[in-house]
Amino acid sequence: MSFDTLGLSAPLLSALAAKNYTQPTPIQAQAIPTVLTGRDLLGIAQTGTGKTAAFMLPSLQRLSANRPQFLRPGQIRMLVLAPTRELASQIAESAETYGANLKTTVGVIFGGVANAKSVRTVQRGLDVLVATPGRLLDLVDQRALDLKNLEILVLDEADQMLDLGFIHALKRIVKLIPAKRQTLFFSATMPKTIKSLADTYLTNPAEVSV
Ligand code: AMP
Repeated sequence: MSFDTLGLSAPLLSALAAKNYTQPTPIQAQAIPTVLTGRDLLGIAQTGTGKTAAFMLPSLQRLSANRPQFLRPGQIRMLVLAPTRELASQIAESAETYGANLKTTVGVIFGGVANAKSVRTVQRGLDVLVATPGRLLDLVDQRALDLKNLEILVLDEADQMLDLGFIHALKRIVKLIPAKRQTLFFSATMPKTIKSLADTYLTNPAEVSV
């Protein structure tokens, strides 16, 4: 199996070739064609399975297909929520690497750095923002962010986010995002609390488990 058969565009395929990725991992093979159609996804997968590329590659392709001429200040098209600053940074780095040939704009914000720096990051609008939930809400409360036109929402490591006490933040954030969106929800485990959260946020999702 090669990446060519999954429906990805030439700019993404050349970014993958530059990374020397020759074969999709199982979660990539299953998730990429589905996410490209715009369908919601529930992924049960650990870190190390290639899940970042599984959600990022098709999302970048969808974003590049209907790019607005300009973004308003603070306007975000895709939001990836992650539990820790380390994971958020890694995801942002992947987005930049994979989106290198698409002129995708990517930003990352998390707590522990100066608030003014996070405000500057989102100031001009971004295709992709990766954030930890607390810092994201800080910017919402300062009216520095505009989530009204968000197209794609990714919740990564949902079980970790709940373990770290982000449930209320998460619920507040999702309320600010239009219901008409694509949602991709990932968790390493699927206890009842996570499953019911997924049921609330996803519409007719495809399920992938690796
Ligand atoms: P992740 O599970 O998203 O954290 O990815 C785990 C690691 O696998 C990362 O270092 C990726 O760069 C790498 N990776 C992801 N997809 C592939 C692939 N198809 N071929 C080789 N390496 C990959």
